Amino acid sequence: MNCSWRWRDGVRTKNSMRQPSWSISTMREREKRILRRWEEIEIHKKLAQKTPHGLKYVVHEAPVPIYDITDEIIAARIMRDVYLRYKSMTGFNVICSPEWNVFDHRVEREVLGESGETIRERDGKINIRRFRKACRERAFELIEETTARFKRLGIISDWDVRPSVESKFASRIAEAIGRLYDEGHLSDEVKSLHWCVACQEPVDPKRSSLGTRKSISAYMRLPLLKGLEGFGRRVYLIAFSGEMWIFLGSSAVAARNGRYVAMLCEDGVYVDSISSPWLGELQPKAIKEVTPDELREVTCDHPITGKEMPVVFTDSEEEREEYGFFVISPAHRPRDYFIALEHCLEITSIVDDEGKLNELSGDLCEARFDSVEELIRDELKGRGYLIAEKRRNVPVLLCPCCGEQTIFKPSVQWFFDSYPISLRRLWGVPMFVIYCSRCEGAVLSEEIGRHIRDSLNRRGVDSWFRLDPGEILPEEISCWRCSCREFHKAEGTVTPIFAFAVNQAHMLSKRKDRVNVIDLIIEPSHTIERWLPMLKKLMELLYDDALISPIILPINPPKPERSIPDEFKSGDVGRLSFFIGPSEAREIVESLYGLFWNILEVTKEADEEFDFTGVDPEARSLLIALDILAGEVMSMYESLRIREAIGRLSHFTFDRLGPYLEAAQKEGNSAPLLREISVDLLKLWAPITPFTAEEIWLKINPEDEEGSIFMEMMPLGWMG
Ligand SMILES: [Zn+2]
Ligand SMILES: [Zn+2]
Repeated sequence: MNCSWRWRDGVRTKNSMRQPSWSISTMREREKRILRRWEEIEIHKKLAQKTPHGLKYVVHEAPVPIYDITDEIIAARIMRDVYLRYKSMTGFNVICSPEWNVFDHRVEREVLGESGETIRERDGKINIRRFRKACRERAFELIEETTARFKRLGIISDWDVRPSVESKFASRIAEAIGRLYDEGHLSDEVKSLHWCVACQEPVDPKRSSLGTRKSISAYMRLPLLKGLEGFGRRVYLIAFSGEMWIFLGSSAVAARNGRYVAMLCEDGVYVDSISSPWLGELQPKAIKEVTPDELREVTCDHPITGKEMPVVFTDSEEEREEYGFFVISPAHRPRDYFIALEHCLEITSIVDDEGKLNELSGDLCEARFDSVEELIRDELKGRGYLIAEKRRNVPVLLCPCCGEQTIFKPSVQWFFDSYPISLRRLWGVPMFVIYCSRCEGAVLSEEIGRHIRDSLNRRGVDSWFRLDPGEILPEEISCWRCSCREFHKAEGTVTPIFAFAVNQAHMLSKRKDRVNVIDLIIEPSHTIERWLPMLKKLMELLYDDALISPIILPINPPKPERSIPDEFKSGDVGRLSFFIGPSEAREIVESLYGLFWNILEVTKEADEEFDFTGVDPEARSLLIALDILAGEVMSMYESLRIREAIGRLSHFTFDRLGPYLEAAQKEGNSAPLLREISVDLLKLWAPITPFTAEEIWLKINPEDEEGSIFMEMMPLGWMG
């Protein structure tokens, strides 16, 4: 950072200025005073109507998780707050209220884990009504806690707004599901996805980071069931598998285009690629080329599951560590999944949603997928199928929510266009779909959606769990595919992001005030990606509406080098810490407060007006520098280059104004000029250090009872 701290150094060596007392506790006291004042004057309301009939920025946000708010989310909110405070000081009205993800999956896990007795019946079954009530209460507690954290950082929003989770919120989903289904935008499919076994939900690979999993990879010999009968001896394919548990679920053997040979050895015939290292290792007595057509006739016997595995050819270039043949498990590896689609292979999963092996894995059923590597290796070895093995770390995607490793597995999913929207959960807005019990097709239409909506509005969301499907559906309804009249309800919930987007779309389309409105979105890029297109599409499809002259600013919040200690996450030090680290942040806030405190001392006696015409060349050059600074800093705020703005402001404040102040203290004739400059500079600092700026402002204007520096305008410039 371009900030040399000369002013502070000068203070230390010359000791010519008095410093105000400084400690973390006095700073906290001052922060609390400012927060109280902002609450008393209801600053968010003032900023919402700063300029009557002026342009309004209406901020929309994706629902914020209520557990473990990450530094990224906090930094993003600080960046947005800097932007909004700046915009407000250029005369715009800013309107902002929070969206909370009350359906955070960790609420469900905590409630299921802790209040076991209060949410269960005597027979151990979950009492849905009590369970959902407990979740609701816990979620609201967490919202209180998180609100307090954002408030301490001075982030302005209408914090009293609470998310609505009442019947209307849910019933809108029922209506939307019916309509979207009728219009062909909603479908249920079995699709292979990256899946977190801890959160039990699909994971977006774009949001996850990479980790590793310990596994055993192996070359093995697979006995042939069909093909190459001409040798008159036992024939094996030499095939590679990257992980043992995945081998358990393999259903075919893949071969890359190339030349293949049969090697006649003591104990049988081995088929492999001509470039395979096993050609030298096995020391065959004779070699004969095998044609691709011959290989296409071949099927192998899976040594553990007994599955008949065909040979398929692929030109997949991915993960070329293996030679020749490799087994494929379409359900559990993305690459294999696409090979299977190409060759119409069966896609069957061997794990359940919790990552436990299912009945297809025989004796290993119920074991966790990553606990069976050695067991399978031993089994293959004991029965003579293993040729060579290697322990290795395979790359895996980690869940962005909980950090657990993910697996790739098929699951039944509801999709809104390409967005997966169903979850296997209890806490959330139920997946309002009813299935035919004979053909398993969804009994769904716009009319049925509206009927369910009305039923929910009348009887509450919990009625969905209590009532039989027949009581929820319109009378006389039967499955349009098979005329069956027996039904069952879908289990699970819709994703929170879908539930919120439907409701946001509804609220946006119902708003009356559309004059002078600009819809503003400032969120991390990945949040925008998974939320905004869905919201826009829902507005368009359900309400034939759109955002109003939207401004969408994707941001990449700074990642602090070291994690910021919690005691630093408040006030101006907290805000600055995310951009320049806690120790430098503290130094800046301390110096800033000290400098303005000294300016107040120098200027408090001066009551003469500032006379611009009489300034000397030195003062003139200071004013020019201030004008340039103002232009630069405002354009940095405009484009969210906040770190740069901090550097630029520090440079001027401590390297230009600091020395000028020292000189003024000695000569004592520059007070009116200092007062003017300091007010302008304070305004420029205000968006990023609102606590300090507000406090000094109130000291300068003690008589202004309802006042705030944020009701002022940014400096207009001296030289214009
Ligand atoms: Zn997870
Ligand atoms: Zn049916």
